[in-house]
Amino acid sequence: MTFKSTGITFIISLCIIFSLYYFLEISLWWLILPLLVFMFFVIYGSANIQFNFYTKAFCSAITKEKQIAVTFDDGPNKEYTPKVISLLEEYNAKATFFLIGRKIEGNEAIVIQIDSAGHTIGNHTFSHSFFIDFKNVSGFKDELNKTSDSVFNLIGKRIKLFRPPYGVTTPNLAKAAKALKYQIIGWNVRSMDTRNDNEEKIILRVTQQLKPGAVVLFHDTSEKTIHVLKQTLEFAKQNGFKIVSMQSLLNIQPYE
Ligand SMILES: [Zn+2]
Repeated sequence: MTFKSTGITFIISLCIIFSLYYFLEISLWWLILPLLVFMFFVIYGSANIQFNFYTKAFCSAITKEKQIAVTFDDGPNKEYTPKVISLLEEYNAKATFFLIGRKIEGNEAIVIQIDSAGHTIGNHTFSHSFFIDFKNVSGFKDELNKTSDSVFNLIGKRIKLFRPPYGVTTPNLAKAAKALKYQIIGWNVRSMDTRNDNEEKIILRVTQQLKPGAVVLFHDTSEKTIHVLKQTLEFAKQNGFKIVSMQSLLNIQPYE
């Protein structure tokens, strides 16, 4: 289901209703039906990155090997990002951190630490504003460029992986990402670690969904995630899952 296929289906439905109106004199109120269906799919498709509605997003890999990727959004965080890095080191795991540009100031050493520990850095916009999806193409480009510049000034690499805030995509976001040559990264295992307060439930939710090629979404913003991560890493180890970088799981380039 993409925006294009939804749009084509909508237009065909309108043509059918107009034909029926012309030949069989049905009521034009029938037009409300395809309009509602179209609006529903546009909202649903925009809110779910896995549908590739406006643009292709990498959400998992097709593989039989027991390899998975773990990702952390919304850092860098002074308190929790270093804890995540230590845990990953303990389990010899490589992860990807999608950073919010405005949080880099004051946390520069953490950004350098992520990179020097062998993890990957991706773009999670500069502001991560709740209203970010109302931005035009140049607004999204600014968001991406500001974060990219801050990271480049610290590690000397141009980041090329982009995770849209809240997993929401829009036509303007897709255009900006394409123009700046970003690969859009989603997930197929959402931990819900920012919404659910019950650690056991989060652990169960994640571990039950772990399959070869999975991409797991966490947030390095709370103590709860540290506990959940520890349990997830332990589960992965016990069950023979190797935690690899995004680039090696998906065979893509994380930097320019
Ligand atoms: Zn986020």
